[in-house]
Amino acid sequence: MKEKVKSSRNLSKNQLLVMDSLKQARQPLGAYSLLDKLREKGLKAPLQVYRTLDQLEKIGLIHRIETLNAWTLCCEEKHECTPIFAICDDCGTVTEHLDKTLFDNIVALPVSSGFMPKRTVVEIHGKCENCDTT
Ligand SMILES: [Zn+2]
Ligand SMILES: [Zn+2]
Repeated sequence: MKEKVKSSRNLSKNQLLVMDSLKQARQPLGAYSLLDKLREKGLKAPLQVYRTLDQLEKIGLIHRIETLNAWTLCCEEKHECTPIFAICDDCGTVTEHLDKTLFDNIVALPVSSGFMPKRTVVEIHGKCENCDTT
């Protein structure tokens, strides 16, 4: 009797608060923006926010956008593949793209010269459809 697990199951109060804020923001938020939104709800210490973000990232519900130093909700539940992000520099919208073949090819590049990849970040900056009015 396996039910499809909901992403919000078993989340702690802090985890739910952070998830809610990210949902409402509809764009990536930095730890201090989150802290501002959640202070009145009881999350007062930056460490609490960082710890919560860390936990959510490990479960696969959110991703860190390195070049923005911010976090965003995952577009779908749990995926093996590391996402490729397109980031609009005007409105801040981030879209997540999953392409395992493309990603494997990127990682394979340095491997041919004996390099051992550990972590890969692919983030593309530009303008989204809404902002590109030309
Ligand atoms: Zn994702
Ligand atoms: Zn935009």
